[in-house]
Amino acid sequence: MPNYKAELVGVFGHPVSENPTVVVQEAAFNALNLNWRYLTIEVLPEQLGDAIRGLRAFNMRGINLTIPHKIEVMQFLDSIAEDARLIGAVNTVINNGGNLHGENTDGKGFIRSLTEESHVSIPGKKVVVLGAGGAARAIAVELALRGAGEILVVNRSTERGEALVSSVINCSEAKSRYIPWSGILKIPYDTDILINATSIGLFPGVDDKPLIDYDTIRPEMVVCDVIPNPPRTAFLKEAEKRGAKTIDGLGMLVNQGAIGFKLWTGLDAPVDVMKRALAKEFGVA
Ligand code: NDP
Repeated sequence: MPNYKAELVGVFGHPVSENPTVVVQEAAFNALNLNWRYLTIEVLPEQLGDAIRGLRAFNMRGINLTIPHKIEVMQFLDSIAEDARLIGAVNTVINNGGNLHGENTDGKGFIRSLTEESHVSIPGKKVVVLGAGGAARAIAVELALRGAGEILVVNRSTERGEALVSSVINCSEAKSRYIPWSGILKIPYDTDILINATSIGLFPGVDDKPLIDYDTIRPEMVVCDVIPNPPRTAFLKEAEKRGAKTIDGLGMLVNQGAIGFKLWTGLDAPVDVMKRALAKEFGVA
């Protein structure tokens, strides 16, 4: 008997047309011969509630949320994972037979990329996070939950920077402090992990880089960027020149997708296939 019915997942966003996740997920579905589709769907902020009702009506298996829906979606869900609640945002919804459950895979994707690519062990480590937006919140909270010793949050806007410090302190034993970003930042000598979690360097602003004194980067540091496109940012190139181990944003993007794939399908994601598909899409294969 043929079965023409496809299982549906996708992403709601606005704007959403440049979101590359479809490439990663469809590569994985094809590799495992799954009759699943990933739809890239433009949803206006005022229509998010209707879109979620549509998801239920179509019995979609889940959805990713991107700008500007990651916070607003939480009011429409039946349950939310503890870490997503601490982060204050949901980027993945799983539809368990009509029960909508929210997760945040951004920070977990980052952690997987960091530990697999650098073999660094997180407990006790001193971390400097540049930025305090959605990506920075997800990363800082997941690092804190895994026992990071100290998380310094460097951000332009004081309000967001201090809010992230409070979240870290409230959810963990980690020390945390807000550092205002005025002028050229010197990276503390004893930093183990330095992360650019701002949007500086994202295409098309490929020559832009965070305002730090790059000579304060040491070879012992692991230096990470969340920017997936281009993967080799000006920030990472400077760190490489100083001998630091660098980790780009492609791994984070692929791994958060791989975690979402597993949550939806119950199957281990073909991570290498997903990585190759994304690298090809960004012209870096
Ligand atoms: P947000 O808009 O929530 O946060 C942006 C952050 O960047 C804020 O901290 C903002 O500071 C800071 N920032 C922006 N421009 C400047 C500047 N010129 N100088 C100093 N600080 C600046 O965005 P997200 O956190 O959602 O996304 C950030 C980046 O992370 C994006 O480029 C996105 O592509 C990437 N990302 C990558 C993922 C991956 O899987 N690789 C997953 C999710 C995001 P302020 O608070 O002062 O405005």
